[in-house]
Amino acid sequence: MPVQIVRNDITKMKCDAIVNAANPTLLGGGGVDGAIHEAAGSGLLEECRTLGGCKTGEAKLTGAYDLPCKYVIHTVGPVWRGGQNNEEALLKSCYRNSLTTALEHGCETLAFPLISSGVYGYPKEQALRVAVDSITEFLTEHDMLVYIVVFDRSSFRISEKLFADISSFIDDKYVDANFKFRFSGRGESGESAVLGETQILYPAAANLAQLRRPAKPTKALSLEEALKQTDESFSEMLLRKIDEKGMTDAQCYKKANIDRKLFSKIRGDRLYRPSKQTAIAFAIALELPLGEAKDMLMKAGFALSHSSRFDIIIEYFITNENYNVFEINEALFAFDQPLLGA
Ligand code: ADP
Repeated sequence: MPVQIVRNDITKMKCDAIVNAANPTLLGGGGVDGAIHEAAGSGLLEECRTLGGCKTGEAKLTGAYDLPCKYVIHTVGPVWRGGQNNEEALLKSCYRNSLTTALEHGCETLAFPLISSGVYGYPKEQALRVAVDSITEFLTEHDMLVYIVVFDRSSFRISEKLFADISSFIDDKYVDANFKFRFSGRGESGESAVLGETQILYPAAANLAQLRRPAKPTKALSLEEALKQTDESFSEMLLRKIDEKGMTDAQCYKKANIDRKLFSKIRGDRLYRPSKQTAIAFAIALELPLGEAKDMLMKAGFALSHSSRFDIIIEYFITNENYNVFEINEALFAFDQPLLGA
């Protein structure tokens, strides 16, 4: 089951449990801790008083009172002291212990804030990486839907270098697309114009009259014959590629950040039409080169165009052979685009 990064106030998350970035007293504080106590009401503080505090890296569970979830899991993140003081191991242990506690209480959905990344000073980018890695590792063994809730977009910054690289890649592709569009507008032949999400290949200007008349195929097939000639479907290509790559189904859908139930649907229906994000997530999980990725998308009825920032970001990662779906999602998020996976 996948990990999802969402922007929200964690006190609004309707999950089985939410995680609180608490302090060792468990008696409330500022930041997300203060917001959770305020939304839960005084019952939460009463229960926290009975717990005898919590050590850094550990986790303790309480009821959720007025919050729209069943439990609050309180964990205490490390204070950032430059990174050489066991901060990363302690932060990982916060995630692991919170996830294990949630599992022990039968939770199927869980939401984390970016622990330690506020008052405790852990650099946000590194805090996010630890969160994604720890949760992903846990999800290879267990089924749970886990959200990382970031409060504001500035909490979620991909590295400046990556951001700059993607920005310039987008600029280049946009320039490219617009240049071609102007060209075809002047009636040049064989140029591609980008209209909305669709790339249209213009025929030579001299043939424009023909374009208005439907062209007669030289040898017409009956509809029945034509329908018999269907190509390999998306689902068939997916299963073939999984075999060719020597992956198991589970390895593939987990790497794609796709829900097991959705994968079963695709597996069981030869003509299943996935969403574009799902189709791309599989192409990424299978580490397909650009040509094959486009082929797979086409089978699902989609294309990668240069008129969409989403498409260009995907193309950027594929051409750079970076097939880490979580890193791609971080970049998509930073550029305000929909994320991959379920
Ligand atoms: P810590 O002391 O562990 O650093 P903070 O509460 O100061 O905890 O901050 C942890 C993260 O939670 C920060 O990134 C902060 O922006 C974020 N945060 C603060 N309030 C909320 C909220 N209501 N929902 C989700 N995240 C929040």
